[in-house]
Amino acid sequence: MARVTSGQRERTCRACGRKFEYPVRESQATRHHCEECVEVPPHIRKTLERLNTRITLLEYQLRQLGKKETPTS
Ligand SMILES: [Zn+2]
Repeated sequence: MARVTSGQRERTCRACGRKFEYPVRESQATRHHCEECVEVPPHIRKTLERLNTRITLLEYQLRQLGKKETPTS
């Protein structure tokens, strides 16, 4: 893992998949959620997280498929 000297680290939001810096002063973002998703009610955020997990998995599977179908010639 790359170290950032400022102490800020790039995080991926669990709910929307957006990359964000944490910690940022005056930002409401938490370790796992970006500033925008922090304001989403927890029960809705849970659903967002579930969907995001599926999207992440689908994206991964698409990448794997893309690799397989790359012509070798
Ligand atoms: Zn988010």
